[in-house]
Amino acid sequence: MPGAGGPGQQLAGVPGVKHIVAVASGKGGVGKSTTAVNLALGLAAAGLKVGVLDADIYGPSMPRLLGVSGRPQPTGEGRVLKPMEAYGLKVMSMGFLVEEETPMIWRGPMVISALTQMLREVAWGELDVLVVDMPPGTGDAQLTMAQQVPLSGAVIVSTPQDLALIDARKGLNMFRRVDVPVLGIIENMSYFLCPKCGERSEIFGHGGAHEEADKLGVPFLGEVPLDRTVRERSDAGQPVVVSEPDSIHAQIFRDIARSVW
Ligand code: ADP
Repeated sequence: MPGAGGPGQQLAGVPGVKHIVAVASGKGGVGKSTTAVNLALGLAAAGLKVGVLDADIYGPSMPRLLGVSGRPQPTGEGRVLKPMEAYGLKVMSMGFLVEEETPMIWRGPMVISALTQMLREVAWGELDVLVVDMPPGTGDAQLTMAQQVPLSGAVIVSTPQDLALIDARKGLNMFRRVDVPVLGIIENMSYFLCPKCGERSEIFGHGGAHEEADKLGVPFLGEVPLDRTVRERSDAGQPVVVSEPDSIHAQIFRDIARSVW
């Protein structure tokens, strides 16, 4: 893991937080948030102190994925809030601060200021790593975020389809533009294993992300199969790494966490 801030970045770190790692994707729906939460739990399973910052201001999903609700309480020191906690992770999300049905109609600068507050006005305490679930895409807001948050590195999540890969490449180039090291690519929904007969189906094609990673000269971190349990457990607020620790998915996420670290 390179030093916080990445080469060429001059951003102030967050006191007590050793590394900040972004989980990003070129487009929505590829399983970025699912990966972010299971990766965070995989890092925690390796004995690290881990936090999760849900930077998807327009579509926060951490409260649901981690099954936490309620409001972060003030610490009594200025505007600083206590993060929420779930499965040993410290968590902050816009989802704790606004009602679920409230549409976020903020413009870019407000989004950046909310993100800065969630990063710097939260009592994260001592963390080995803070995993940031980035908003999907590579627009202006994402680029600004990548510049404003002192990132040690970024992990890109993609599905195997060409379109998703093109978007993932854009995401990767965005981080490179702001000198944030890309720690690697994860292929999610890589293949489907039939729970009845065990046959492997490559629904969206297969191996594209691995080839892409090789072409781009970044590590390929692993393949996560498409599986109903992953979705069901996510929807129930029980990520597979903690709810099904012996499953192949949990193993894969723990392995990915180890290779990132
Ligand atoms: P994103 O953050 O990229 O928008 P999500 O993590 O919210 O994507 O995932 C989108 C949907 O796909 C969710 O319903 C999630 O449970 C499901 N999902 C993600 N990864 C998998 C997987 N490997 N197998 C089955 N369902 C998955």
